[in-house]
Amino acid sequence: MRFLSSADFLDLWERGFRLHPLDQALLILGMGLPEVSYDGLADWPLGRRNAALIELRCACFGPHLRSWVTCPSCGEKLECDLDGRAFTTVTAGSRKTIDPIVVNGCSYRLPTSRDLAQVAHERSPFEAAVRLVESCCMKDGEPPDLNEKELEEVGERLASADPLAEILVGLRCPMCGNESSEILDIGSFFWTEIEARAKQLLFAVHRLAERYGWTEQEVLSLSEHRRAFYLEMVHG
Ligand SMILES: [Zn+2]
Repeated sequence: MRFLSSADFLDLWERGFRLHPLDQALLILGMGLPEVSYDGLADWPLGRRNAALIELRCACFGPHLRSWVTCPSCGEKLECDLDGRAFTTVTAGSRKTIDPIVVNGCSYRLPTSRDLAQVAHERSPFEAAVRLVESCCMKDGEPPDLNEKELEEVGERLASADPLAEILVGLRCPMCGNESSEILDIGSFFWTEIEARAKQLLFAVHRLAERYGWTEQEVLSLSEHRRAFYLEMVHG
């Protein structure tokens, strides 16, 4: 996996800011894994995609993933601080090829980013789940018409076969004691940080170019430590 430079953050932001979050996640991964094609990444199971995003994110910004969520019961703001290294044991498993699951004699492969993109515009979460399961069905011809219980079983089996496909974070509110869980969308989380870093870099380029007459490339090629020092001098 390739480490992302300051120029990469700006390039990613410029190319991806109008894209759908699913495409933004693949764009980031493609920058870190230039040897894998965009289509190849779109066909990775979601757990493998998420594991690679966590690895790249921790290499770029360190192991702590901090965010704020609102308690659904009392509205208190809760700080969520995850250690990306805690996913190491799960991510090791996610690199293995996982066999399709079989329910009622029909095989289903793990869902990918491409499958999610196909159901992104469904009107309800239920319809999206039905279409997702249908697109993972490996049977030739029409997919079987599943009842609610069978659909649930396929969903549960797929989730336990690929535990990082959906990262659930358990939270307990210190104010009201309410326990809840939040989905960590690592692609959107990482994108928000890349966007913030890109804007910070553009600000640094603007200030240092204005003061010293340096080009964008010259400012970006400085180490973070040096750039911070010069910015401090400019700000006085
Ligand atoms: Zn609360």
